[in-house]
Amino acid sequence: METVPARRGKATPLKQGQSIRIINTHGAQVVDTWAFTAGMLTEFMSMEHTRATLTKMVPRVGDGLYTNRRRKILTMTEDSSRGDHDTLMAACDSERYILLGVKEYHDNCTDNLFAAMQGLGLTPPECPCTAPGYLDTR
Ligand SMILES: [Zn+2]
Repeated sequence: METVPARRGKATPLKQGQSIRIINTHGAQVVDTWAFTAGMLTEFMSMEHTRATLTKMVPRVGDGLYTNRRRKILTMTEDSSRGDHDTLMAACDSERYILLGVKEYHDNCTDNLFAAMQGLGLTPPECPCTAPGYLDTR
């Protein structure tokens, strides 16, 4: 088990059939989650495509999460969160904090995604919309 410090990110390679459990140990902050297809970072988990495939706004246990090529990349297998998963809001970024009036650099999920992926030697083409939860690959 790895602990991700607050306001930081972590990227972990998964093979088909592996699971990842994401636990918010304290606080009420969301845990932004992305998934990219190995070897093809232009295919990634897409909330737009997931909503269209599920024909609902919020995935539930047993639902698949789909890529921008409409292929299932993860399955939500558990969910102990207290609220609904947001599939609409973009990940926070420096621009959002500037709009909120923050004058200094503020850690943000978009920069955390890129830093975490760089830790694996990877650079995603963009920061897709995110989804938190307990997920299994395909
Ligand atoms: Zn954020």
